[in-house]
Amino acid sequence: MEETKKKIILTGDRPTGRLHVGHYVGSLKRRVELQNSGEFDDIFIMIADAQALTDNADNPEKVRQNIIEVALDYLSCGLDPAKSTLFIQSQVPELTELSFYYMNLVTVSRLQRNPTVKNEIKMRNFEANIPVGFFTYPISQAADITAFKATTVPVGEDQLPMIEQTREIVRSFNRIYGEALVEPDVLLPDNKACLRLPGIDGKAKMSKSLNNCIYLSDSEDEVKKKIMSMFTDPNHLRVEDPGCVEGNPVFIYLDAFCRDEHFEKFWPEYKNLDEVKAHYMRGGLGDVKVKRFLNNVVQSELEPIRARRKEYEKNIPEVYRILQEGSIRAEKVAAQTLADVKAAMKINYFDDQELIQSQAERFGENK
Ligand code: ATP
Ligand code: MG
Repeated sequence: MEETKKKIILTGDRPTGRLHVGHYVGSLKRRVELQNSGEFDDIFIMIADAQALTDNADNPEKVRQNIIEVALDYLSCGLDPAKSTLFIQSQVPELTELSFYYMNLVTVSRLQRNPTVKNEIKMRNFEANIPVGFFTYPISQAADITAFKATTVPVGEDQLPMIEQTREIVRSFNRIYGEALVEPDVLLPDNKACLRLPGIDGKAKMSKSLNNCIYLSDSEDEVKKKIMSMFTDPNHLRVEDPGCVEGNPVFIYLDAFCRDEHFEKFWPEYKNLDEVKAHYMRGGLGDVKVKRFLNNVVQSELEPIRARRKEYEKNIPEVYRILQEGSIRAEKVAAQTLADVKAAMKINYFDDQELIQSQAERFGENK
């Protein structure tokens, strides 16, 4: 009988800044739920510093400084080192070695077609000067995922092309060398608003690189200021005007964050979001009132996260220790996969007694 397949999660974030509420609704919140569901055999959460260096080669200090920020964000959201392995990518050199072999299975034109990378190249004005490392990061991501034999990758929508690329690499590898790698499935948020949370400026994606973020570690005042200054429907000039909720970031955030119980608590005039939307669309509901409600909702979600962060901030060496232990454990797992990969590729010469013996016989016969 076939042994039941293990359920393993791998996901992570680039330490290019503190984590924001887009990360939270897009991936982080789900990770914590999955972690606490007890349904997974193993969970690996990676701080992707090596990947962050692919477009920050001239600023390693930025990456270095943000590792602890991301770790604090993880812990404060409820990732628990007793249940999930938190580790730093660069401390697991096996990942680089795997990438090197996977590079032979991907063409330049295939990489060029990756829509997320295309978009990021444009955003960074890299067009004529794309660092090779950046261009190939989808391959290194495949190494990260497959090194842990991950079956499930909970991420935002922008990561879909990366998971597809990983699946292609796994299929090519297994076809050429024999089944050694596991094909992962993506796990996108169920809530449409969380697939790609827009920025407070209304831009399509909240992103550290675009400076349009509400950070998990922002103070209550900072969050309030950002929400009250948020972009809304530009044609909703007077309170009595009918407003548009479609594509309106304030309503997208409400879709992402608010639950019916928030109305009872913060806005008892309405029963649910549909009632608010209907009022906004027929006119007579001002942006300020909606933003105040959104602020209450977001603050109530961030409050426990801030409180936990404060506790961990008191013991930073302990946080580094958690990352170090996680990295040691992650390396052990990745080393086993690398050994499987090398055995499948038959580049494990010194372990291969049959090879040594047959070569000995071949040369022996020639005498
Ligand atoms: P950078 O600009 O450095 O790429 P980023 O904000 O895009 O930063 P990443 O570290 O690249 O963040 O992404 C980490 C994870 O968070 C990924 O799973 C990604 O899909 C998810 N994510 C990032 N931004 C959003 C967003 N605005 N909405 C939903 N998910 C997001
Ligand atoms: Mg990104």
